[in-house]
Amino acid sequence: MAKLEGKVALVTGAARGIGFAIADKLAQEGASVVLFDLCAEEDGVAAAAKIAQERGVTAKFQRCDVSNYEAVQTNVKAVIKEMGGVDILVNNAGICRDKVLLAMSEQDWDLVLNINLKSMFNTIKACYRNFMKKKAGKIINISSVSGLMGNAAQANYTAAKGGVIALTKTVARELATRGVNCNAVAPGAIETPMTASMDQEALKALLATVPMGHMGKAEDIANCVAFLASDDAKYITGEVIRVDGGIAM
Ligand code: NDP
Repeated sequence: MAKLEGKVALVTGAARGIGFAIADKLAQEGASVVLFDLCAEEDGVAAAAKIAQERGVTAKFQRCDVSNYEAVQTNVKAVIKEMGGVDILVNNAGICRDKVLLAMSEQDWDLVLNINLKSMFNTIKACYRNFMKKKAGKIINISSVSGLMGNAAQANYTAAKGGVIALTKTVARELATRGVNCNAVAPGAIETPMTASMDQEALKALLATVPMGHMGKAEDIANCVAFLASDDAKYITGEVIRVDGGIAM
């Protein structure tokens, strides 16, 4: 039997990149998946249809700005009603707006903190009672090695990703006796549309710091998330797993 058969997974930022690979992998393991993303409706619907067709599971798309508290509460409530609950919550949506702190605008600080960190407060809060009632659940938050190490020109992003780790540990402690695991994954340099849009010189410099000498694939992150979402990881909580080719060891 597939490891996640009968489970419902909600994945944010799931229309492309790492989020799509995660939703696809969880579906491959038998989970029904709900994809939240801010992309164009037709792109999100196409992403969900591809997963449903290739993996033979229920896959739905919901356009939702995860930084918007009210929108998240409303949409998660609808998912819980329609799907009978949420078993696995993967908080993946994220953006970067890189500049040295002196040149960073207040707007870019707020935007990155809202999408990368506040979004997780929004979704976890929306799913909290559902997990307490089920006395089971897996919450997996996507952080970054930048949140562990800091990174010049990423004050907003690193503060958010470091915050994700602290939030993960707090939620893990709050829900530990309720059968809910909460863990974080810290990717290094992964090939996605986000890194494709990076300054290529900066990317080259970043790659020079990777002990394994190459970038990772979205699937490398998805495999780790699928492990954390399964009962193979049932005694792991409050952990941060680096999937980074050794950058932050
Ligand atoms: P992408 O930019 O490729 O994908 C991010 C997805 O999130 C997009 O589909 C985007 O939608 C969506 N999104 C953005 N804002 C929102 C929002 N407010 N509400 C809902 N969805 C939103 O990024 P990656 O796949 O590279 O990154 C995924 C996660 O992994 C992020 O949290 C990132 O910080 C983290 N990470 C990535 C690394 C990498 O090397 N790629 C390294 C370390 C961490 P759209 O833009 O269409 O609106």
